[in-house]
Amino acid sequence: MSAVRSLPIRLAPIAGEALDSWLEALAHRNATAFGDLLAAVGLNPYHGMATNGWIVALAPEQESTISAATDVSPGVLTTMTLAHYAGRAVNIHPETPTLKRAFPWGNANGSRYCTACLMDTGGRWQLSWRLGWSFACTEHHRLLVDTCPRCGAVPRRRTHVGDLIPNIGCCARPAHQATGRIPARCDADLTAADAAVLGPDHPAIRAQHIVNTILEHPTAVIGVYRHTPQPRINVLADIRAIAGRALSYGTSQDLATIVPADLLAAYHEARSLRRASGHRLYRRIHRQPRLHHDRRVAHHVPDRSGPTPTPNTAAAACRTNRGSRHHPIRDRGTGMVPGRPVDARSAGRLPRQVGAAARTGPARPHRGPW
Ligand SMILES: [Zn+2]
Ligand SMILES: [Zn+2]
Repeated sequence: MSAVRSLPIRLAPIAGEALDSWLEALAHRNATAFGDLLAAVGLNPYHGMATNGWIVALAPEQESTISAATDVSPGVLTTMTLAHYAGRAVNIHPETPTLKRAFPWGNANGSRYCTACLMDTGGRWQLSWRLGWSFACTEHHRLLVDTCPRCGAVPRRRTHVGDLIPNIGCCARPAHQATGRIPARCDADLTAADAAVLGPDHPAIRAQHIVNTILEHPTAVIGVYRHTPQPRINVLADIRAIAGRALSYGTSQDLATIVPADLLAAYHEARSLRRASGHRLYRRIHRQPRLHHDRRVAHHVPDRSGPTPTPNTAAAACRTNRGSRHHPIRDRGTGMVPGRPVDARSAGRLPRQVGAAARTGPARPHRGPW
């Protein structure tokens, strides 16, 4: 039975908040090191920080102890883990629990964030920002940001370090070249990151609305699926397949006819930054002795002293092909194959719904999510 006690200071989760964000806010409010807070609510800090398992799903006994310490119901706690999106936007191995990689664009690497939302809430993070299908904030009409404006690291790839009090709303990754058992944090103010602001009628914002609608219903009855409704998973797979091919086979001129100039510019800048950081990372890794993979990445993030680069979510909004191992047309270089036609064999591998969509075409091709 649980031996946890009620926390001296409680804090209610905000709507849509991720469990890790709320626990960090609790630690901050109680002026307690994060590892001590985890232990106080019945989570094993070392196990939790090693696996991130409780961010994906809570075991019943974990729900029970957290609820006893915070007076938040187990039902609410479940909605704060990725299990809330199980079968809708992610698939989960129930035994581990970990995310299955098979779900199309299921989970982002770490968490994206909306700078305005962080500002409004005092640094609280939405659970949906962890989904690969989240690329824009429909409330503030701006692209989500992928990285820290100072160190370039992707936020929340690992659980917050246990020995420090979280400074919510700030980058918790180790500072560049910081050393020691508890290296200094980057601590950049993430609300100051440069996010692309779009209008409410911008195609990327409309696309996010459509994706959200698809995620909320088991069957899609929109667009080309209005007359032949399809299960949600099929529609998401279609979007991924079509978008991957559009970006792989379309020339810059092709894309410029259907993608707004601001989004396309953000996409190209994000691609070039990713290639540059990738080359730099490769060189640094091969000069270093072997370390834990995550640690290598953490120490070799791109060195950017200027403002936040255009967010990689531009690529998500454009729906870049992220290089699925099983994708027949991987985008390895520029992502552009000028003038290259889709041959009959690759077209033959398209899912049935994709073929139907390609034949039918959207009613308003320039206003669709792609
Ligand atoms: Zn927002
Ligand atoms: Zn940082």
